[in-house]
Amino acid sequence: MSFEKLGLRPEILTGIKFKGYVDPTPIQEQAIPVILEGKDILAGAQTGTGKTAAFTLPLLHILSSNGQHPGHLPRALVLTPTRELAAQVGESVDDYGKGLNLRSTIVFGGVNINPQKKSIRKGTDIVTGTPGRLLDLAGQKVLDLSHIEVLILDEADRMLDMGFINDIKKIINLLPKKRQTLFFSATYSQAIKKLADTLLKKPELIEVARENTAAETVEQSLYRVAKARKRELLSLLIKQGDWKQVLVFTRTKHGANRLAKQLNSDGITSEAIHGNKSQTARTRALAQFKAGEARVLVATDIAARGLDIDRLPHVINYELPQTAEDYVHRIGRTGRAGCSGEAISLVMNEEREMLRSIEKLIKRQIPVKLMDSFPAQPESDEPEANPRNRSNQRGQGGNRNNNRNKTGGKAQGNQRTKRSSNEQKDRRNDDSSKTEKPQRRRNNKDSSERSEKPRQRYNSRKKANPQSEQKKAETPSSSSAKAKSGGWRKKVSSLLKRS
Ligand code: AMP
Repeated sequence: MSFEKLGLRPEILTGIKFKGYVDPTPIQEQAIPVILEGKDILAGAQTGTGKTAAFTLPLLHILSSNGQHPGHLPRALVLTPTRELAAQVGESVDDYGKGLNLRSTIVFGGVNINPQKKSIRKGTDIVTGTPGRLLDLAGQKVLDLSHIEVLILDEADRMLDMGFINDIKKIINLLPKKRQTLFFSATYSQAIKKLADTLLKKPELIEVARENTAAETVEQSLYRVAKARKRELLSLLIKQGDWKQVLVFTRTKHGANRLAKQLNSDGITSEAIHGNKSQTARTRALAQFKAGEARVLVATDIAARGLDIDRLPHVINYELPQTAEDYVHRIGRTGRAGCSGEAISLVMNEEREMLRSIEKLIKRQIPVKLMDSFPAQPESDEPEANPRNRSNQRGQGGNRNNNRNKTGGKAQGNQRTKRSSNEQKDRRNDDSSKTEKPQRRRNNKDSSERSEKPRQRYNSRKKANPQSEQKKAETPSSSSAKAKSGGWRKKVSSLLKRS
């Protein structure tokens, strides 16, 4: 199907041409006609599928057809979990809506609130932002949400993960009951179902890729390597492969800083992006990476959420993430919109349990790679050798046996517990970046900074309910993608049961 057949206004088609898109992606093909009919949707779409345009294009069509509010109050609200995603969605609104007489405002914390207030006061049609700053603006009576016609929740699962549920509820209370709601989530947990239940009226279910199957276009592999040699291997891979643009994930902000520094000293230009950096520093690092001035961007999971880097070829999991779902989100940064990509994980023995959870979630085993000049870390039950004794490990041959059923020893367990508590502490603080205007009142802090809570680690969650991990991971797996009017709740329940 072509974009022309979707019934979008000519000005929007020009915007699409300007972006260079030829055909709609599957989510666009399915969602756009339904949204144009004025229906609510519940869309299971991962990042990288073209979901932003899937809601932005029909939104622009609807708003430009309806005519402005006499007081030029906002008529559409897009809620996003992160500042980066808000900025990206806002940019898309501007790009696609170039030829239309619509105004858009992007709001998020970590930056001066005054320009945002000014833009809203001037009159705006579309507001895109993170929940905390939106509530601040509404609380200060700058933002009036009582004329919102279309509400969009982008990456709703991420918003819940980040502890935004109460802020979302407060925002919903400020909106008119009669409105169109578009709900996008990559994963489909009970909490998401509950939220969707309260927000949506007879929604159409739309799903484009089976949940938590890693994008087909991403080639996944792993190297078994001791912690102490990960950086050496990473430098080698980048240099040998002559990689020009690599997104590297670490679990902690300090780890990201350290690694970026080390890579720079290896002659590989690198920038780190995480929650301790100011928004300006984050934006600059991302711009340098996109422009090819930095070859490597080292990021924590939270800072990397929503990052859209065109044709990113390589993603490296320097450390496996805290949750298996994060692995899917990480590798989804590459292989976007039909391009191919490569995702490589550097896995040490202590990460075997995490690897097992990831493989269970993606329902496939990640192939192990070996590098001639770099012996693999043998799989053993012993805790990882002290880096000071590293020479013991050198020269040990690779062990291809996939002996993943062995459990770690006591020492290893202790090591893991100690490390994970530090990681949790770090994660709790992540993305809580300081504002560039420190004079802001304390209680006026954007809740995208204050209310980010760490997700439970999947190990502890699994203990509480061994089946919940799998259930949480499912989306409606209907390929027909549409629920009959009135029966959608039943359908969602049965889909969940099926999982
Ligand atoms: P998203 O899932 O919205 O983050 O989009 C992922 C990437 O796909 C972005 O870089 C978009 O610019 C790109 N994209 C969106 N729609 C299309 C399309 N119809 N054809 C080609 N690329 C697209």
